[in-house]
Parts: sequence; C-alpha cells; structure tokens
Amino acid sequence: MSDCLFCKIIAGDIPAEKLYEDDHVLAFKDISPQAPHHFIVIPKKHIIAPSTLEEEDDAVIGKLFRAGSQVAEDLGIEGQFRIVINNGKKAGQVVFHMHLHFLGGRKMGWPPG
Ligand code: AMP
Ligand code: ZN
Repeated sequence: MSDCLFCKIIAGDIPAEKLYEDDHVLAFKDISPQAPHHFIVIPKKHIIAPSTLEEEDDAVIGKLFRAGSQVAEDLGIEGQFRIVINNGKKAGQVVFHMHLHFLGGRKMGWPPG
C-alpha cells in the first residue's frame, strides 16, 4: 500500500534496522524503544490489524510468532519477552499495518497501560 509506513520499510523506501527477513516476514528495531530490546515483526502482506485477518493469512500469523521468537533468541532474550499487538486507534494502534511488538530485557508490569 503506497501510503503505509511499514510497506515503505518493506520496499526499502524508508530505512530500518532489519533483524530478520524472508519472503513473508520482516523484523526490525522499533525507532522509539520502550524496553532494552524492542523490535517489530510484520507480515509483508499489507494486513491492517488482527480484526481484518482472512483465512488465507493463517499461515503468515504463525510465521510472525516463530520469526520473532528466533530474533529474541538471537538477541539473548530467548523465551523472556512480551508480545503486544495494538488493534485499532483506541488500543493505541498508530501504524495500520499489522505488527507484533516484541519487548524484552526488563521486568514487565501488569496491567498494561
Ligand atoms: P503502534 O502504536 O502499535 O501502531 O506501533 C507503531 C510502532 O512503530 C511504534 O512503536 C513506533 O515507535 C514504531 N515506528 C514508527 N516509525 C518507525 C520507523 N520508521 N522505524 C521503526 N519503527 C517505527
Ligand atoms: Zn502496509
């Protein structure tokens, strides 16, 4: 999608610190980290949010979690991270290309803000 920030990162039109990439998934460092480790994992397909998923997206959803877990392992936070998905403006979604936030490297509080 031409006016989507994350589609522009996928296309290489906007730079990002890439951590992992394959045909379907891209992981990169969040530009405004909220934890010692904070990276974003996205499908290369422009999916707006979990609430707009289609059946054909089922496979890529698994890939997002597995790729993020592998990146976490590479960063030394294997199995110790929080995954956040903001769905919709009211939930804090700012970029309307579905993404998983992986946050780690510090103790996480609950409930989330
Ligand atoms: P959300 O509020 O869930 O939509 O999250 C959007 C995230 O994208 C925020 O954590 C931003 O810091 C992050 N972000 C925005 N622009 C960039 C960028 N150019 N490179 C990396 N992360 C970005
Ligand atoms: Zn997009």
